[in-house]
Amino acid sequence: MGVIKTKGLVIKEVSYNDSDKMLTIITENLGKISVLARNAKKNGSRASYGTQVLTYGEYVIFKGRTSFTLNSCDVLTNFYDLATDLVCFTHAAHMMDMAGDAAQDNALSSRILNLLIHGLQALKKGRTPLLVSSAFALKLMQITGYPPHVCSCASCGTCDIEQIYFSFKHNGFICEKCSGQDSNAVQLDIGTAKGIMYVLCAQDGGIYRFELSEKILITFSKITFKYISQHLDKNYKKLDILNEL
Ligand SMILES: [Zn+2]
Repeated sequence: MGVIKTKGLVIKEVSYNDSDKMLTIITENLGKISVLARNAKKNGSRASYGTQVLTYGEYVIFKGRTSFTLNSCDVLTNFYDLATDLVCFTHAAHMMDMAGDAAQDNALSSRILNLLIHGLQALKKGRTPLLVSSAFALKLMQITGYPPHVCSCASCGTCDIEQIYFSFKHNGFICEKCSGQDSNAVQLDIGTAKGIMYVLCAQDGGIYRFELSEKILITFSKITFKYISQHLDKNYKKLDILNEL
């Protein structure tokens, strides 16, 4: 057995048996891992420290042959406040879902963790939740190697585009002429196109530091969420609850 020290964010906690919890942690260098936290179910106990969802900490973990067990944790910060607001928490949960699905590859996990921490900080600072989670989805796709093509028409290659469309078939912007052959292409207003390009160019906390009008944000989020669903082959349902309120 070896001992590993890694920074990470707890994205899921489930009851394991009478006294233990199984945590899912997105780590800095091990991708997404499941960690058994013994005796952590007793709230307020020493063993429960750092085992809550939305804790960001430095974890000391025993690595067994087939599993990880928590030894101790230094909490660096937490985002528990987000749980007091249903809208914020739902968007945070959606982001943790998407990050968990994308963080299978160890080589990418530190960038994904960094993106997620900055996103949760942006929510904590009161940025519009839908803007944060949809910018997160788009940047996550870029980090994992699937940035949408935005510098020319993704179908014919022309740079001479008067009316931009977004094509899920061609993974990016296409011109008006090519949009005729893609019935699912979405016509973009300039604000949405600029928002997409902004997120692709921005880094760290800057990714979430922009504004879109309410109408443009709706188009922007529909595009980024459909884009990530298509690439990760998953139908994300967490945000549906907000439509029912
Ligand atoms: Zn074209």
